[in-house]
Amino acid sequence: MPQIRKILVANRGEIALRIMRTAREMGIATVAVFSEADRTSPHVRYADEAVCIGAAPSSESYLNIDKILKVCEDLGVDAIHPGYGFLSENAGFARRVREAGLIFIGPSPESIEVMGSKLAAKQAASQYHIPMVPGTPDAIDDRNEAKRIATSIGYPILIKASAGGGGKGMRVVESEAEFDEQMDRAVSEAQAAFGDGSVFIEKYITSPKHIEIQVLGDHHGNIIHLFERECSIQRRHQKVVEEAPSISITPEIREEMGRCAVDVARSCNYYGAGTVEFIMDEKRNFYFLEMNTRLQVEHPVTEMITGVDLVKEMIKIAEGQPLAIAQEDLQIRGHAIEIRVYAEDAANHFLPDIGTLYTYVKPDGNGVRVDDGFEQGMEIPIYYDPMIAKLITYGENRETAIRKMVRAIDEYQISGVQTTLPFCRFVMQHEAFVNGSFDTNFVGRHFNPDVLSTKTDDEVAGLAALISALLSDASPESKPVQNEEVNVNASKWKERRFAAH
Ligand code: ADP
Ligand code: ADP
Ligand code: MG
Repeated sequence: MPQIRKILVANRGEIALRIMRTAREMGIATVAVFSEADRTSPHVRYADEAVCIGAAPSSESYLNIDKILKVCEDLGVDAIHPGYGFLSENAGFARRVREAGLIFIGPSPESIEVMGSKLAAKQAASQYHIPMVPGTPDAIDDRNEAKRIATSIGYPILIKASAGGGGKGMRVVESEAEFDEQMDRAVSEAQAAFGDGSVFIEKYITSPKHIEIQVLGDHHGNIIHLFERECSIQRRHQKVVEEAPSISITPEIREEMGRCAVDVARSCNYYGAGTVEFIMDEKRNFYFLEMNTRLQVEHPVTEMITGVDLVKEMIKIAEGQPLAIAQEDLQIRGHAIEIRVYAEDAANHFLPDIGTLYTYVKPDGNGVRVDDGFEQGMEIPIYYDPMIAKLITYGENRETAIRKMVRAIDEYQISGVQTTLPFCRFVMQHEAFVNGSFDTNFVGRHFNPDVLSTKTDDEVAGLAALISALLSDASPESKPVQNEEVNVNASKWKERRFAAH
């Protein structure tokens, strides 16, 4: 069995650090690659060795396969971890890695290829009894035929890019009158984003929950699942809040969904870590959506409730070791919630907000985990995903995890850019989130940006304290401010001042 001694992480930010930390624990050396925009990033400093591979645009750096392979050759690397995004779901890359005599810490190029196409994935999964959303089984080439199918399924329908990802390339069609226009848009979006204009139709489930199952498979045909993650709080069809376990399913549904996920993985001879996504309607019927053949952004919530280090498992699997965990060994313990801290302005349609992190102080304490890749003073580059950090809390039950999350959000101090923190705080305290009656329409249905600008009594009190502190500062007998609360509120006030720009 090959033993991995040196891993190159072909990624940046929080996920690069996340992977390197586990590698270090396992006694494996790490190599970072970075773009010119990331020269001062923590992942670059953390690695044992680091190499600049090009200019800021990812096409010239993080997506530059030749350069990455050259670094491996030069530095005697034996395995590559691709993280998520970038080259992680690129079958051609996985193949090149293998051809270079290196280990790709992920599934086979064949599994990536099948599951990278939503249509091919459905086709593969159809060998098993997996419920699917009603729709067209193939890419649409005959529009009139597609319209007939849409009418028979019943509007609204969703046009989806087969090669889609990251919530892109999706269009809701409310009625036949809109069909052609939305179809044109979907095709051109898919072509521009994925270089593949193939689209298909699915029934649009109007009030669904997004629930996904984490799977692990080894090279010996063993596949297990590590329960579900609930990811229904989304904007632009992309997740912002995730939790495990889901409050919406029963042990029976969990078992059935788990079985389906393992079958989907089996249908493409899967090994490595993967995620099988489902959508669940109001009657708790669930349907297979797609499989992501990589480590998922929200994997920490699964780690918290199972005690499994998913990156460690990925590395052991890549070495050819059989899974040491059996399905029966796994148990859900406690509850974990993750929020994605994006540099985005929730009050302005969640548009990315770039800038400098003037203040960056992260929360800490019992049950709090922060996976991030930035430090105070750094800039959020425009070239990449605007995610600053993931904040994860863990408690013995959901209520505790929510309370810890609100506390942690309040401790988090970020100024210089707008973030999704206030939005996530709003979610944590919203009745629909607390009682579990939310679905993927949460933002559209419950979120009004005005709620973020209403000053709470707390804040008003803080401002008053700040003003009196400033006044006493200015007086001749001024002394240092002793009251910690005033200091905290002062920085919060500054935060709002910066945020206003
Ligand atoms: P997850 O699916 O892990 O919950 P996201 O959907 O946010 O998380 O995707 C993870 C990252 O991968 C994001 O940075 C997203 O922009 C990127 N991404 C996802 N799919 C694709 C794709 N097909 N092409 C390029 N980037 C993608
Ligand atoms: P991506 O590859 O972009 O992640 P997915 O198929 O996983 O694409 O869908 C992303 C999100 O879009 C889902 O989490 C869900 O919110 C929404 N969605 C996808 N398919 C449907 C559908 N048939 N009906 C309603 N919502 C859907
Ligand atoms: Mg998805």
